[in-house]
Amino acid sequence: MSDHPGNAEVLARRAELSANLATVRGRVDAACRAAGRDPAEVGLVAVTKFFPASDIELLTDLGVRDVGENRDREAAAKVGELTRRDQLTVHFIGQLQTNKAASVVRYADVIHSVDRPKLVTALDRAAASASVRPAVLLQVCLDDQPGRGGVRPEAAADLADLIGQAEHLELRGLMAVAPLGADPAPAFARLEELAHVIRQAHPGATWISAGMSADLEAAVAHGATLLRVGSAILGSRQSHR
Ligand SMILES: *Cc1c(COP(=O)(O)O)cnc(C)c1O
Repeated sequence: MSDHPGNAEVLARRAELSANLATVRGRVDAACRAAGRDPAEVGLVAVTKFFPASDIELLTDLGVRDVGENRDREAAAKVGELTRRDQLTVHFIGQLQTNKAASVVRYADVIHSVDRPKLVTALDRAAASASVRPAVLLQVCLDDQPGRGGVRPEAAADLADLIGQAEHLELRGLMAVAPLGADPAPAFARLEELAHVIRQAHPGATWISAGMSADLEAAVAHGATLLRVGSAILGSRQSHR
């Protein structure tokens, strides 16, 4: 396949993305109806990792305004290629090493994966030198697999306080990934409870980032305000590139 897809290919991809988006938006609306929530309070982040900047352009045409990426090198390159960067909010959702902080603050508007004091310090310093003030979410670990990132729920309040003191970061809420292979509902319920606790001390921390392609309904039922949806919109990784 050539690097410059022909017009027919672009149109076919646009139609595929459009249909997938309609399906996902339908699922979100139905989940909101079931939960008695207003769909306007649930944001959709299209997770474009593994997919080219051309897909982000098509999604922008289709009304998507939030995109998520999980690897610094890939994200930095791709965001640099965007022709309508100003129309998009870029979310960094992957595990983050402190030595990538300076890079991430240059393109990410929202950083979902803040889970340890060292990272708070590194991001705050990086944001100061870049003269930015990114929104950050505190990632909570909802299972016993700390390898996937996240602070233990018991330690979340202290870390939230630390973020709250960071001059160049704005604490906006919590993020979590549901435990692998388990019912996501109890985990999302716990996240929602924790979000209420954190909000007592940090009134601006109103966002709950939870729910992916497979479990967005459970996340909506438990107060999610941001859904991070990849494969249900973009397709499976194998089918493109
Ligand atoms: C990839 C990814 C998603 C999207 O997952 P899908 O199952 O493809 O919807 C959401 N959150 C994080 C942290 C991810 O890495």
